[in-house]
Order: sequence, then C-alpha cells, then structure tokens
Amino acid sequence: MNALTVAKFGGTSVADYAAMSKCASVIKGNESTRLVVISACSGVTNLLVELANGVSSLEKQKALLTRLQEIHFSILASLPENEAVNTAVNDILDTVATFAAAAKAPSDKITDSLVACGELMSTHIFTHLLNQQGLDAVRFDVRDALKTDDVHGKASPDLIETAYQAQTLLRPLCEEKVVVTQGFIGSDNRGNTTTLGRGGSDYSAALLAEAVQATTLEIWTDVPGIYSTDPRIAPAAAPIDEISFSEASEMANFGAKILHPSTLVPAMRQEIPVFVGSSKAPEKGGTWIRRDAEHSPLFRALALRCNQTMVTLTSLNMFHAYGFLAEVFNILAKHKVSVDLITTSEVSVSLTLDQTNTSGGAPKLPEAAELELSKLCKVTVEQDMCLVALIGNEMGESRGAAAQIFGALGEYNLRMICYGASNHNLCFLTNTAESKDVVRTLHKELFEK
Ligand code: ASP
Ligand code: MG
Repeated sequence: MNALTVAKFGGTSVADYAAMSKCASVIKGNESTRLVVISACSGVTNLLVELANGVSSLEKQKALLTRLQEIHFSILASLPENEAVNTAVNDILDTVATFAAAAKAPSDKITDSLVACGELMSTHIFTHLLNQQGLDAVRFDVRDALKTDDVHGKASPDLIETAYQAQTLLRPLCEEKVVVTQGFIGSDNRGNTTTLGRGGSDYSAALLAEAVQATTLEIWTDVPGIYSTDPRIAPAAAPIDEISFSEASEMANFGAKILHPSTLVPAMRQEIPVFVGSSKAPEKGGTWIRRDAEHSPLFRALALRCNQTMVTLTSLNMFHAYGFLAEVFNILAKHKVSVDLITTSEVSVSLTLDQTNTSGGAPKLPEAAELELSKLCKVTVEQDMCLVALIGNEMGESRGAAAQIFGALGEYNLRMICYGASNHNLCFLTNTAESKDVVRTLHKELFEK
C-alpha cells in the first residue's frame, strides 16, 4: 500500500442518511481512502452531554433519549438488512439510559463513557451503509488503538502506545478493507473510555493518520475549506486554496472553528498534507494545508473566538517588581491554569485563560488560584470579551502594516493587544457586542480592497 488516505467526516457530514451517502461517494471516489474516522451524528454529543450532566426531571430525560433514538433509527430505516446494526445501536442506547439514570452526581469518567456512545453508534450505522453501497468496510473500535492518559474530558494521547497499536492492529486491517472508526474517543491503560475534548474528532483523525503513517489526511466538514474569515460574519470572505501549517494552526488556535486546534500538530510532525473540504459539495474543492504554501500573503485570514476570560494581576508592592511574573506563573501552574495570551507592564500583567474541558463556556479562574494570587496582587477578572486574531506572514517586519490595521479600527475599543511575539499573528480583545463589527471592518480594509 503506497498511498493511504485517512478521511474524517464531522457530525454534520453524517447527520442523516442523505449526508452519509455523500460521504460514501467521497470515499468511493478515492481508492487510497482506507481509514475513515467519523464523529457522532450532528447534535448527538450535545444530547449526551446534557444527559451526563444529570437532568432533574424524568420526563426531560426520556425526551432526550427519544431524540437520540429518532436520530439513529431514522437513518437505519433507509438501510436494508439492518437487523444486526439495529441490535447494536439498541444495546448502546440501553447503555446510555443506564448511565443517564446513574448520572445524578456527574463525574468526568461517567461523562466520557456516556458521550462516547455517539461515535460508537454512528460508526455502526456508517459501516453498514458503506457495505450496502458495495464497499468492503469493517468497523474498528478505536479504543483498541488510540491510547490516552486518564484525564477524563480532555485526555492526551499516548503517542508511542497508539503508534504501536495502530501499526499492529489498524494498518494491516486497512490493507484489506475500508476501516471505519470513531473520532473523539480513546481509552486509558486500564481500558477506561476517555475523550479528547469537544470537537476532538479532527484531532483523532490526525493522530491516527500519524500512527498508521498515512500519506494524506482529509477533513470533510460542511464548508468547502478555509476562508479568509467566517463567511457568516463577513459575506465577502474568500476561500483559501493553499495555506501553510503555521498559518493554519494559528487560525485553528485562534478560533477559526473549521479545525480543532490540536489537529495540525500530528500532521506537522509527520508532514502529512491535510485537505479540508465539504462532503456536501466536494466538487467545490477545498483548502490544502502543507508545510509550505506557494503564496505567503502579508494578511491571510481573520479569526474570532468569543467566551474569553481576561485576568489582570496588579502587583501590590513594587518590592515584588522582580520575580513577580515568576510567582504569578508558579501559582497558575500549580493550579493547572493554562494561559493563552499575555501582555505585561511594569507592575501588572493581563492574561487570558485557555479554553479547556468538554463543557464549553468562558473558562473560570479556579477559586483556589484566585485566593492564592490575591495574597500577591490585586486580581481582576473580566468576561464578555472576544479575541480577534489576524493571521499573516512577516507582519512584524512590514512597514505600515500596523498603521493599516489599527487605522481601520479607530472607532473601537481594543484591549490587550498582542503583537510581535509571532510573525504570523496579531491579536487583541474586544467586547462581545462589537466583535463581529470589528472583524467585518478589518476584513473590508485588509481583504476586500
Ligand atoms: N462528537 C464530538 C463533539 O461533538 C467530537 C467531534 O465531533 O469532533 O464534540
Ligand atoms: Mg464536530
């Protein structure tokens, strides 16, 4: 096997029978596609998270379970000879009901086992659909290959073990059949189910592509590739044909929702080219992400990420002026607070908190961390802010770039500007209400002239 493509299809791509059939055509259209990674059917993970959080009324719980049943059985209804898959999906739904009934005091471990059921069901159905459509497909339980630590809700992969299992179990299977497996989930060394965090299927696909030494990774979603910004915000946004790994990872990190931020890390390690396209309209083409792009424009794209938490720490005592930052970061590290952006002045430092965990929403500064920090400095926490990131090339070395950017934004209140640490991005915070206008204004100035 020379060429081996790993193709990942997201929730909307496998939302229903029609969507799944489009994915089947994409797979059939490329002989080298031997490993297929899929998400749960659209909306399913949200329903499962709701159940895992423990719904108080039995009625509500029943309604959620019924909805799950409807989503899956409406697809199965279109598939002949579905008895075995019906049984498999019913068994998983029983497991969901049992877990949901027990989820009074939700733990991350129970949540993982519960939310994993989405991918476990979608892969049963999709494998059957591929077989019905004439492909020789087999379902593989990814928990046998994608090994992780035991941090439930946001597990990290064990790369060595994953590579070993993928080479031993998965790659030989890919030589024989089209293998369908789950995104998002894995298992720890005791066999407990873990998840990589919301939206983690892209990351799963990239990890598996790395582990089986694939030659291409395709991420199929509901938009035809990466755009200069979200077209729902700025309708003039233009598609990007080719982009470098570094630009694309800045975009993913800064909230372009098209790729999970960690996705490109394994692809970059192995230099696996990544294609992003729409399974609903594959003829529209998409974006290739490669180590080097032929064209490196000064301004490439704009990303917006909301739900930001900004923490400002002001030293109480000038005596702390040296060693202050070290102490601050010691405390943050001790409480496992992951920092995203940072700006500093002589006596204060502002930072934003990294988005972690499956539940979403604005990240919180843990109380214990705040308490400890308060002994050292004044702590102010602000929310309701969005981060705007401008991605490009050599921005720090280009005369006039900053004037053009900030000149366009004279009307707006910008907070916490980060510029210069990376040649590929400039970012700042705005308040949520203005954030889309800021993106539109900047897009117009930098991309539509
Ligand atoms: N199904 C999971 C989620 O909705 C993972 C994914 O779709 O990437 O978060
Ligand atoms: Mg998804």
